[in-house]
Amino acid sequence: MAEESRLGGQQVMVLPEGATRLLGRDAQHTNIAVGYAVASIIRTTLGPKGMDKLLVSDLGDVTITNDGATILDELNADHPVAKIMVEVAKTQDKEVGDGTTTSVILAGELLKNAGDLIDQGIHPTIVIKGYKMSAQKLQEILKTKTKKIDIKDRKTLERIAQISMASKNIGGEEEKSNIAKLVVDAVLQVIEETEEGYKIDKDDIKIEKKSGAPIGETQLIRGILVDKEFAHPGMPKKIENAKIALIDASLEIEKTETDARIEITSPEQMEAFLKQEEKMLKEMVEKIKASGANVVFCQKGIDDVAQHYLAKYGISAVRRVKKSDMEKLAKATGARIVTSLDDLTEKDLGFAGLVEERKIVGEQMVFVENCKNPKSVTLFVRGSTEHVADEAERSVVDAVGSITATLEEKGYVIGGGAIEIELAKELRKYAEQVGGKEQLAIQAFADALEIVPKTLAETAGMDPVDVLVQLRTKHQKDKGETFGINLYENKIDDMEKLGVIEPLKTVRTAIASASEAAEMILRIDDMISAKAKTPSPGGAPGGEGSEE
Ligand code: ADP
Ligand code: MG
Repeated sequence: MAEESRLGGQQVMVLPEGATRLLGRDAQHTNIAVGYAVASIIRTTLGPKGMDKLLVSDLGDVTITNDGATILDELNADHPVAKIMVEVAKTQDKEVGDGTTTSVILAGELLKNAGDLIDQGIHPTIVIKGYKMSAQKLQEILKTKTKKIDIKDRKTLERIAQISMASKNIGGEEEKSNIAKLVVDAVLQVIEETEEGYKIDKDDIKIEKKSGAPIGETQLIRGILVDKEFAHPGMPKKIENAKIALIDASLEIEKTETDARIEITSPEQMEAFLKQEEKMLKEMVEKIKASGANVVFCQKGIDDVAQHYLAKYGISAVRRVKKSDMEKLAKATGARIVTSLDDLTEKDLGFAGLVEERKIVGEQMVFVENCKNPKSVTLFVRGSTEHVADEAERSVVDAVGSITATLEEKGYVIGGGAIEIELAKELRKYAEQVGGKEQLAIQAFADALEIVPKTLAETAGMDPVDVLVQLRTKHQKDKGETFGINLYENKIDDMEKLGVIEPLKTVRTAIASASEAAEMILRIDDMISAKAKTPSPGGAPGGEGSEE
């Protein structure tokens, strides 16, 4: 339906033929429904008792996961509001790594409660204002509920890593506890202390995944794993006390840029020409040899002749190494990447206790390990099948994110629903101070926070209303602050004692991104789609009244 408008009897057409439009309450209702629907999809995956999803992509690839961000990403949601919800998970994933499900179900609940308020005649702008005030106030309240962490407190760090993997189906407590240790080791290895606090570049922790071995064989490599093989079969496969050259130049004879032509008229000339080429390549290798290197990682190609000489001199070399791997190798081994062989000296070489080519499920990989105080490390994640390895990798990503977040903000909060109940309690107090209609919106925000304990209770088959009542009562009392849901014994319990703790940043970011997304969606009162409406089997909520 093309949009028409009249002004002074003049009829104008604003929208093109076939465009659809949704206005006012209709737009809000639809958007809230879509946002809530997206949240509902992943609700059942929350927490250690959450279920997994099996997803099949349009190419037929199967993914089995509990990871909110992964599920939403695979959905290929089409509706613009669904895309905003997916964005919430992605932001959380990027900023923290963990807490994606929480952020999305919180956004969904904020939308649902906003819908109820709008139905009661409260204008969306009031709701938005109340939500904004709540989000701001919550950041303040959170600070008062945060427990400080010391970098030397390994036990707590390991516990946080373990809890971040609680919901992932990757083996038992023992496996998770082992991976948690590796993750903490990895982060502590690459962490840097600056004036502004701890700095961790997650790129310094390479996560390399291979199926074909149990999760228990996941290991931390104090160095880098390069998914390549040595260029020549005659090169040593195992080099102890490796002196490593990183070369960003080709070990080949450069082809001329211009269309130069060499006329060769006799076999002697041909031979001389080839000899000359060989001599040049040999000289290149000799420069490497002179530096004292016994291992070479080359970002560009290595000519067959150069390979031959490298092997002859007992130098092992990998060619066409990814730029990102070169940079990681530099950080791990202390080598300097040289762009010209003429520059290569002993000072540029890096060190690794061991460089070895190993066969991992039929593929050669080069392990550069036992580096001296490496500033880049690798978590080599294993899993018996492809699906398990994939989920293990996602778990490790979450755990690295959690530890990073905890150390960056130097704090953690009590999980298992405890923090949300506590925040809701404080927010309700604040609502009373604020008064007016905004008060209702702030209360709605507080109610929305309780979706986390409510959902956790549901996943364990407990009565959610009953659990909420018990928790609220407990939190009013002295020393009740830390009570949440013991999902294994189906009762409310002290989460701090049980060690269910999570980074402050996970909760902080989830609240911020969920409320921003909800506000953004609520502010929309006009949806214009220039795309002609095509009947879709999925029945994605489109506009009203089509043309025909
Ligand atoms: P997210 O994608 O949001 O991280 P998860 O599926 O990892 O979702 O679930 C996180 C929630 O589960 C948090 O609220 C956390 O406190 C809770 N949780 C994790 N482990 C436990 C546990 N052992 N007991 C109770 N709650 C837990
Ligand atoms: Mg999690």
